[in-house]
Amino acid sequence: MAEIRVENLKKNFDDFVAVHDSSFTVEDGEFFVMLGPSGCGKTTTLRMIAGLEMPTEGKILLDGEDVTFNRGSERDIAFVFQLFALYPHMSVRRNISFPLRIGGMPRREVRERTEEVARLLQIEHLLDRGVGGLAAGDRQRVALGRAIVRRAKAFLMDEPLGALDAEFRDRMCEELRLLHNRIGATTVYVTHDQIEAMSMADRICIMNQGEVLQIGPPLEVYERPATKFVAGFIGSPAMNFLRAMGKLPAGATEVGINGATIAMPETREPLTADEAVLGARPEHIRISDDGPLRGRVFGVEYMGARQLITVDTEAGRLRVRAPNTVKVAYGETVGLTFDAERVVLFDPESDRAVASTLFEEAGHG
Ligand code: ATP
Repeated sequence: MAEIRVENLKKNFDDFVAVHDSSFTVEDGEFFVMLGPSGCGKTTTLRMIAGLEMPTEGKILLDGEDVTFNRGSERDIAFVFQLFALYPHMSVRRNISFPLRIGGMPRREVRERTEEVARLLQIEHLLDRGVGGLAAGDRQRVALGRAIVRRAKAFLMDEPLGALDAEFRDRMCEELRLLHNRIGATTVYVTHDQIEAMSMADRICIMNQGEVLQIGPPLEVYERPATKFVAGFIGSPAMNFLRAMGKLPAGATEVGINGATIAMPETREPLTADEAVLGARPEHIRISDDGPLRGRVFGVEYMGARQLITVDTEAGRLRVRAPNTVKVAYGETVGLTFDAERVVLFDPESDRAVASTLFEEAGHG
């Protein structure tokens, strides 16, 4: 078990800054997910934690011990790569037990540990098969087995499910999380897939262009995004963004949108730009006759018990998640009401949220 602390970590590749000044702590036993678009610096951060890449500046502490300049092999951390790098000529048993055998562990103990891990991953029946003919999910389980058999202090996983198809990915997400609940090892998991992150993480660390933008539990980053980038990256469909009037003092509780006045949480600081951006999740907007903002229905998608209604307004196009009992017709003009507690106001100059309900106040704290 281990706590991983990253302090002011920076990585340059020549003139290019891949990771700017990152600081965070992954708590003992936590499932910590690093999320962000391709090229944002997630893998580089993970590789520095693993000891596969040396930082340009900053420190990495494992259980309080400074391991910044220790080699990967001295860190007692297991790394699970994206590709299923199994040894094709070996059986499942020999693949899983490989790290124990090269460590010189007595044979009986190797057998016991390997079988225990195979039971945990429900691949006991495959132990004496070759890995060649295995299905993708089983290959992934073997790769996981090889990573956890060593009982390392922490696991680092770089898009381990990236090569699986969508249905399988969902199943493996569930399995990985259950496995984590059982063994409770500190895990840092890298992905660009927000659904994976939302479904597995204790906390999500969202990065963009080498910077950590926000760290928090899934619901918190969903309900109280720190920046417009985070708001747009998390949630499917994404948060709606509407053009609103800027130049607001601190403490404002309403914002003008195309002649309508929309109530919102109090602004924490003044917003000096001429324009602001109002963010509203599709489930936080209602179609109602007396809604202050008007728009025309552009499309309706039925999704089982709910529907997604696309509405064009003068301030931008938005999507509303509504029960199927709401009836609208294409081209019809409708009113839109916003959940005043849940909308978020962003400053387009800094990208930061200047008005949002406190997470604790939202009742999840
Ligand atoms: P992906 O999911 O595509 O791997 P990522 O968020 O993990 O994205 P990194 O792999 O950490 O991103 O890369 C961050 C940036 O650093 C990218 O622009 C990448 O091109 C650059 N980079 C990574 N490794 C090197 C290297 N060895 N030399 C030069 N540039 C690099």
